[in-house]
Amino acid sequence: MLRLYRDIFNIQRRHLSRLDVEMPALEELQIRARLEEGIPLVDRSALRLDTQRFLEILMEIKELLARRSRGKGGAQGEAIATLDMGVEEAEGLLRDRLRGDFRSLQRKADELSLNPDILNLLVHASLAPFMQRMAGKLHPRLDLDQGLSAACPVCGEPAVMGFNRDGDGMRVLECSLCSTRWGTPRMLCLFCGSTDQKKLGYLFAGEDRTRRIHICKACKKYIKITDCQGRTEEIVLPLEDLFTAYLDEVAARKGYERGCRTALS
Ligand SMILES: [Zn+2]
Ligand SMILES: [Zn+2]
Repeated sequence: MLRLYRDIFNIQRRHLSRLDVEMPALEELQIRARLEEGIPLVDRSALRLDTQRFLEILMEIKELLARRSRGKGGAQGEAIATLDMGVEEAEGLLRDRLRGDFRSLQRKADELSLNPDILNLLVHASLAPFMQRMAGKLHPRLDLDQGLSAACPVCGEPAVMGFNRDGDGMRVLECSLCSTRWGTPRMLCLFCGSTDQKKLGYLFAGEDRTRRIHICKACKKYIKITDCQGRTEEIVLPLEDLFTAYLDEVAARKGYERGCRTALS
């Protein structure tokens, strides 16, 4: 899983620097109003992305997955290898994914007897560089320390998970799609907005107190938070998320539902 993440990351990195994205026009006032009201800055349904390039990235990651599953037998490796599509079909998948509609993805997966999670991973991982490019252009104009939810202020996708940053200890989340990071108050449920201290709490696993599950008894959702205070090296949250999968099991056993998401988890 670790190697797969690294390999996908390298493909994304290579494309990221060459991507040309059309930025939505946003005035300072609009930015401030949208951030305050919790409306994503980028209207995903209005985006026009380079589908040819999207398809190129998708096929490259597909080859990677097919190579990795080859030799392991199993029908999924075969199904991945046979995945093919034209620009028009890719355009449809991309458009639906941006609108949050997964039906065409499900149809395509069914058609190939492919696990829809794998197709979702492909689409997500191929879309991410575009969104990261766009977010990167916006970041210098944004004050992102006033977040109030687990949805990305830039693109609206759910966070991967979060960490308490070194220095001021602020609880910072990272977007699962555009990689934007934003700060949030600690005594607040990021899913239902509850600030009732009797409803908010923590779960741990074993002796490790630096990796916590922030739970909300009101909406029964949780988010994983790793304490990075006093830690100098940068945390890679998609990897931390994989590494802390045991916390998801702890939370599920206690009846809590994961409020975050990644294409890999
Ligand atoms: Zn985002
Ligand atoms: Zn809640």
